[in-house]
Amino acid sequence: MDDCIFCKVARREIPASVVYEDDTVLAFDDIHPQAPVHTLVIPKTHYAGLADAVPDSVLAALLAVVPTVAGIKGVADSGYRTIINTGPDAGQSVSHLHLHIIGGTPMGEGMVSPV
Ligand code: 5GP
Ligand code: ZN
Repeated sequence: MDDCIFCKVARREIPASVVYEDDTVLAFDDIHPQAPVHTLVIPKTHYAGLADAVPDSVLAALLAVVPTVAGIKGVADSGYRTIINTGPDAGQSVSHLHLHIIGGTPMGEGMVSPV
């Protein structure tokens, strides 16, 4: 997708702090981190979100790389939260499937923060 910001990151047309890369996925630090560790994992191929007929192999690759990225970021033992926002109520702001890895601080048990 020409205008998609994460496609541009995947094509290295805009800079990003890349944490991990393989043939299928790219992991890079979020530009507005919400915790000491806040890294995004994207498929290199464009899918608008989780409901965009994403092949099982891509979904598996996204999830499978999470422990590796967490290890690189130093939160494998302390723990981390893994989030995929889908649609307006979840606050999805970039329409290219991405998975958040958030950690480096205790986050408690709550997962919902109504606005
Ligand atoms: P969403 O709200 O869609 O689940 O998450 C999108 C995330 O992408 C946000 O946390 C936002 O800070 C991040 N983001 C948006 N644009 C860029 C960018 O150009 N570079 C990086 N590294 N992160 C971005
Ligand atoms: Zn895209």
